[in-house]
Amino acid sequence: MALRKLWLLTMTQVLFIITLSPESIEACKRNIELNGCLASSKVETHLADARVYMLTHPKEFDVIDLDPYGSPSSFLDSAVQSIADGGLLMCTATDMPVLCGGCTEVCYSKYGSYPIRAKYCHEMALRILLACIESHANRYKRYIVPILSVQMDFYIRVFVRIFTSASAMNTTLLKLSYIFQCNGCDSFHLQSLGRIITKNNRGKYAPGSGPVVPQECSNCGGKFSMGGPMWSAPIHDQEWVASVLQNVKSMKDKYPAYKKILAVLTATSEELPDVPLFVNLHSLSATLKCTPPSARIMRSALVNSGYGVSGSHVDPVGLKTDAPMHVIWDILRCWVKNNPVETHHQNQYGIAILSKEPVLHADFSSPVTPQGRSQRKEPRFIPNPEKHWGPKIRAGRKIESKHTSSLGPKRMSD
Ligand SMILES: [Zn+2]
Repeated sequence: MALRKLWLLTMTQVLFIITLSPESIEACKRNIELNGCLASSKVETHLADARVYMLTHPKEFDVIDLDPYGSPSSFLDSAVQSIADGGLLMCTATDMPVLCGGCTEVCYSKYGSYPIRAKYCHEMALRILLACIESHANRYKRYIVPILSVQMDFYIRVFVRIFTSASAMNTTLLKLSYIFQCNGCDSFHLQSLGRIITKNNRGKYAPGSGPVVPQECSNCGGKFSMGGPMWSAPIHDQEWVASVLQNVKSMKDKYPAYKKILAVLTATSEELPDVPLFVNLHSLSATLKCTPPSARIMRSALVNSGYGVSGSHVDPVGLKTDAPMHVIWDILRCWVKNNPVETHHQNQYGIAILSKEPVLHADFSSPVTPQGRSQRKEPRFIPNPEKHWGPKIRAGRKIESKHTSSLGPKRMSD
């Protein structure tokens, strides 16, 4: 797998493959032989603990790719010290049940953040990982600049540059937020950890002012759960993503997974950069027990009300918008007037939301600005390539009947 990166190396660069598995080292050596003299001269294998190796090579590597089975959390502290200034850290996490709120206490112990189990949990997982990397980097007067953060298939992967600057590091508090999630409806609100106040014409860092929510949700009356902290600054460098997208299009034949890469990059390039997380149209409608409006209709109403809107690369029915939650509910209150709800299925929270008259009168007609329209030339989501697509069991484990769901019935009988 690591040898795929060989063609990215410059004349003077060398690829180090570091693993604790003797079997993996042997497999790497066989692959190096098969790839000829270029691979032999450019690739080094080391049977070692990657954490110790990185710690003993501070600020030495231009690129580090952490791709462990499960959580990368135990590698982050040494990785952020081993990257050269301006270098690139690529990091994969496959422990999605932990990051998405299935084991909240484990997530806190590994990543220092409390996840929320909601429709946006995969994007929150990306933001928890970024906050965790930033936290490790800050210990060494370093900070991260995310350039691409994606959720694909059954894992998340982030690409961040790492720089050293004590003054830039001070702005970290402005890039992190806690989240309040209503337990009755889909409303969520971000609480920034810090803010800048001006004193004697000088900017000074201060704790964030809050709380940003009352004791009970002003839309439905429900209580809030609190999660975070998570990264709430942009998770992509839009210029970089656009240039990579152009490069990928110009070298279509070089990428066996061209359609998948194109779909993910197109979707990420369209995301509103300053809007953390998203609402899910089907979930909003399920709260009210109404027929969901189409994404096009909802986008139109938001744009016509003066707000920004985009899709999300992690959810086909996710909508990112800078509209406050009460505006989103007002638009749905207007929608329900012409699309009545199933009253016998309503719950107290949906009834509470619909009992209020909308302040805003939604305009569902198509806007003239292109932002409200979904530019649908290329697909943004590609179906999984096979049934039972997902992470396989950890290397070396005995295959038992309980692994059927991860391997698929056909493979169990092979
Ligand atoms: Zn609520």
